[in-house]
Amino acid sequence: MTSLVFVTGGVVSSLGKGLSSASLAAILESRGLKVTLMKLDPYINVDPGTMSPFQHGEVYVTDDGAETDLDLGHYERFVRTRMGQVNNVTTGRIYNNVIAKERRGDYLGGTVQVIPHITDEIKACVERCAEGYDVAMIEIGGTVGDIEAMPFLEAIRQLGVEYGDKALFMHLTLIPFIKAANETKTKPTQHSVKELRSIGIQPDILLCRCENEVSEDERRKIALFTNVPAKAVISALDARHGIYEIPMLLHEQGLDDLVVEKLGLETTGPANLDDWREVVDRMEHTRHEVTVGMVGKYVNHSDAYKSLTEALVHGGLRHRIKVNIRALESEDIEREGVDALKDLDAILVPGGFGERGFEGKVQAIRYARENKVPYLGICYGMQAAVVEYARHVCGLPEAISTEISPHTPDPVIGLITEWLDASGKVETRSEDSDLGGTMRLGGQRCKLLPDTLARRTYGEDVIRERHRHRFEFNNHYRDTLREHGMVLSGVSMDETLVEIVELPDHPWFLGCQFHPEFTSSPRDGHPLFTGFIEAALACQQGELPAEVASL
Ligand code: GLN
Repeated sequence: MTSLVFVTGGVVSSLGKGLSSASLAAILESRGLKVTLMKLDPYINVDPGTMSPFQHGEVYVTDDGAETDLDLGHYERFVRTRMGQVNNVTTGRIYNNVIAKERRGDYLGGTVQVIPHITDEIKACVERCAEGYDVAMIEIGGTVGDIEAMPFLEAIRQLGVEYGDKALFMHLTLIPFIKAANETKTKPTQHSVKELRSIGIQPDILLCRCENEVSEDERRKIALFTNVPAKAVISALDARHGIYEIPMLLHEQGLDDLVVEKLGLETTGPANLDDWREVVDRMEHTRHEVTVGMVGKYVNHSDAYKSLTEALVHGGLRHRIKVNIRALESEDIEREGVDALKDLDAILVPGGFGERGFEGKVQAIRYARENKVPYLGICYGMQAAVVEYARHVCGLPEAISTEISPHTPDPVIGLITEWLDASGKVETRSEDSDLGGTMRLGGQRCKLLPDTLARRTYGEDVIRERHRHRFEFNNHYRDTLREHGMVLSGVSMDETLVEIVELPDHPWFLGCQFHPEFTSSPRDGHPLFTGFIEAALACQQGELPAEVASL
């Protein structure tokens, strides 16, 4: 039987439930347990695919093509278990499922209600995800007391009763430090637990976010008021050496032992966190430093590019390179020119959608190409690189993506349906067509051409990477771009779609149609990011990157 660990939050949001859950899962995994994680999100969107990164942070894409909450990204960076559609469920999806059943007549004339029908659907989703694992950690989005979260809390309360000793509730709260009084305050925590208990959930463990360690006295006081044993009141201090230190911090306080004891888990032994210590050591003791300019649209919203900023940092770990990320609004480049790019060691254009800021990205890419600054273009950043090359090297000044100009004479990037017609003629989008309907989503395999930067960097002939886009490199322009020197170094397995482009006459210039940031992890890194960051360092030191020098 799988053990269930429910993680709730109180007092305020953004206490780091996702990171705490992921870190605990990492510790348990190091004790030989098979662990999975799940995020239950109380909002009504069926998935976050339609939500603006401004509001909700990045949309994380899993290998099976689910568009999910960014917490699943944290999960995959911390544990070996891979996430999928089953690991992220929203209120919208639950209602969608229940309403579909109701329309099919599955409820046989019954009145369909929040309890038991919605709660049963939630429980079924949790059990489906948990099946086959020793431990499933289930994180509830939002904070206790939110109206939207009620059905989820009721469902986990019921599961708690059904699973008995095989269920555990961990609650994250805040212990604020009030400067004027020079005191930490435990009252918000007391109230938050009271709220949780009023709906029938007694937490087993309290994880208290605080600036200073919770004193023995305070722990006893919290224990007294909340019915949680003092040793299960854990202080979660801010990680001074970055997020990958959290597993160590939680382990030092005995969190994994509490969980293992309470659930009666059989482990292979004590936690072994050497991997994580190594990661933190490499981040702390760096020998070099590079600055990467990230030219995008939501660059001041740190969560909008969460996986990407993590992947860039991972890219420096092998050679202990500190990676500074300079966020640049592409619209500022449109207004003020490329001066802001002058002292960068490398330039990256991430994925994106829509017209705003596109020209600024093209300008940045032109700068990188002409000045031989290492460049990595991801998805939109690859498409923009193709546009830039078509315009300034192939002599097609009006080249652009049909996402921006549906009637351009040179749609070098377009919807497959626009350029794939039987006659081989290039069709541009008609006025009334929509955005293409379906996106290409999730993991797909890609063939790499021999003797290319891509092939050298990956060290493999076939790779698998995740997609999230509608538009594609227009095959009618393959020859033109190739004739002018662009190398199409990666193609889909059936060779119908271009996946990677690169420039041979450049220290390191590569654009990929997929999102490598979703598969980078601190322990393993990702070849493209490692290659890119090491190329930035090589160029900074006046050398040619190893992969390029050997071509
Ligand atoms: N907007 C582009 C497309 O839909 C790129 C998407 C992306 O960068 N994720 O194809």
